[in-house]
Amino acid sequence: MASFELVEPTNLQDAFALLDDEDPAVRPFGGGTALMLMMKAQLFKPVRLVSLRLLGQQFDGIALSADKSSFRIGAMTTFSQLEHSAEIATYLPVITKTMRTLANVRVRNVATIGGNLAHGDPHLDLPPVWLALGAKALIINKTGERLIPVEEIFAGYYETTLEQGDLIAELHVPVRPGWRSHYAKVTTRAEHDWPALGIAVSVLSEGGRVKGASLVLSAAVDRPTRLVAAENILRGATLDDAVLRAAGEAAVEEVHIETDNRGSAAYKKHLLRVHLGRAIQTVTGA
Ligand SMILES: Cc1cc2nc3c(=O)[nH]c(=O)nc-3n(C[C@H](O)[C@H](O)[C@H](O)COP(=O)(O)OP(=O)(O)OC[C@H]3O[C@@H](n4cnc5c(N)ncnc54)[C@H](O)[C@@H]3O)c2cc1C
Repeated sequence: MASFELVEPTNLQDAFALLDDEDPAVRPFGGGTALMLMMKAQLFKPVRLVSLRLLGQQFDGIALSADKSSFRIGAMTTFSQLEHSAEIATYLPVITKTMRTLANVRVRNVATIGGNLAHGDPHLDLPPVWLALGAKALIINKTGERLIPVEEIFAGYYETTLEQGDLIAELHVPVRPGWRSHYAKVTTRAEHDWPALGIAVSVLSEGGRVKGASLVLSAAVDRPTRLVAAENILRGATLDDAVLRAAGEAAVEEVHIETDNRGSAAYKKHLLRVHLGRAIQTVTGA
């Protein structure tokens, strides 16, 4: 492995100065789990890695607002911290459950939610869940900041809209009373394998009638993708088999699914029809 510089700035001004370089081989370093794999595979040869570990407050911590309507989660929060947060388990239990089949303890102890989003890998488990929950990301750079829906981070297969020098600093996640959420990691081999499909749903329903729905597909598509046509079918409908089938068909029609080593496109479309319906039934009891 070629030598490179690993720096640990203790304030934002120094971090931005160290990141201020046109060279894409200068990158922020979160937990390093994705970066190290890319470096070992010689897919990425860094010149300088800028650790965000010592940047402090804005990048750390899980805070529930006083009125309990939203969470602010620092981008350097590790998966383990999310997994063991009692407040997350109470207000966003879908996150705690998603952790059970996500990587392993060693990875969860260091991988960060910022690095997980910035990596842009469509197979990752948490990004579709953040989308379904309606989360926003605070992006900062040396000239300012912007708060964007998490889905706007993704531009394609391992591609993001983040510019050189942009840092994901925080996630803002609403707590939506009455909404129930579920993530289905659909694997075709072992439970801990990479998913052939990730399906995240968040639904508000009353007496079988759907009042709001966020449905997201990942892994089978090039980026986590809202299933807008399927959402439109659900919204206002009283759930029955025909509505669930129509939503599944709409979902299959609105996305482009490729064949890969986790299954043919036809097989994955079939999985989508079946598992989207099951995920909706899980959260609505229909
Ligand atoms: C053995 C193994 C098993 C795994 N299994 C799973 C699994 O089952 N499910 C799953 O979802 N994932 C899995 N992962 C992937 C893991 O989720 C990612 O590697 C991890 O989320 C990346 O986070 P990180 O903090 O380590 O990122 P890093 O490796 O530090 O960085 C990744 C990318 O993000 C950039 N970056 C980091 N932080 C920021 C920031 N705050 N702002 C802007 N850019 C930033 C870096 O420059 C780099 O380009 C696995 C990984 C390993 C090694």
